[in-house]
Amino acid sequence: MLKLNERLLKIDTARRIIQFLSFLLFCGTIFGLATIPLMLPVMWTLGTSQKTVGDAFAALQWMLYDLVFPWIPLASFLIAAVLLGRALCGWVCPFGFVQDILEFVKRKHKDFPERTHQSMLYVKYLVLGVAVFVSVTLSASLALGVGRQYERALGIFAPAPFNVLSPADTLFAVVPRLISDLRYAVLTKSFWEILGEASTASVILWVRFLILFGVLALVVYVPRAWCKYLCPHGAALAFLNHFSFLGLKRDPVKCTKADCRLCVEACPMKVRILDMPWEKFTDPECIYCLKCVDACPTKAIKPKAP
Ligand code: SF4
Ligand code: SF4
Repeated sequence: MLKLNERLLKIDTARRIIQFLSFLLFCGTIFGLATIPLMLPVMWTLGTSQKTVGDAFAALQWMLYDLVFPWIPLASFLIAAVLLGRALCGWVCPFGFVQDILEFVKRKHKDFPERTHQSMLYVKYLVLGVAVFVSVTLSASLALGVGRQYERALGIFAPAPFNVLSPADTLFAVVPRLISDLRYAVLTKSFWEILGEASTASVILWVRFLILFGVLALVVYVPRAWCKYLCPHGAALAFLNHFSFLGLKRDPVKCTKADCRLCVEACPMKVRILDMPWEKFTDPECIYCLKCVDACPTKAIKPKAP
């Protein structure tokens, strides 16, 4: 067990404090900041009226649906990725924060076998591709005046296809709304009336909950499983991470890699740190959590920019 002062000196402690403060900012009503618009490529929600920080991917889908070129969300992705890589995932994203909290539920984590892990990394690109494809094709057909049937066929998926099933939307918007409805119902209705209404909940609502609980259960066992395998923001940032100024370097003189590997074991994103070029590496999956920096007993790993 680490002593308290050793724990406080860890970068991870600072990271968790920043994650928590960012989360408070996201729930901006606490400070009455509800009118500050800030658009970031992180998993948040379209569904709360009080939000101070916009979700760039949700906004991108909405703007395409409204036939507006989504230059603000695109700029948000590009600027964040070039300046910070996927650091927002490690330090700011509310859904990343939730996953890091769930890490504490189980002491022993599991990992998929390497080949399964490598194949599953591509699933998030598929999620991103499908959502963008639906949004772009719908937008183009509406702009050409031939998209009404397509829109009707998509139903509630038309405005923002990903967000209808996004676990972040379910957690940060649907669940609080249901809790507030339930509190009102408890005061005004009988138990059987409430049960009757619950049984008529839409299929989409049940699917939403199934996805949310499936994802939360998975991340208890596999750290940051959503970020590694499923997140469309993560996919876009992973692609753009190649162009990031930010990276890590590993001092080959200080590193005793043959009998250590503590950095690799600490990495929640399974980055193959020891196979990377030592001068500088910017792996697409790296979220700059700096757990590898904390874990290295010889202080061989450091952030590097540019
Ligand atoms: S990959 Fe997605 S969920 Fe994970 S931290 Fe990044 S934006 Fe958030
Ligand atoms: S390589 Fe280091 S900074 Fe990057 S995700 Fe892994 S532990 Fe975090």
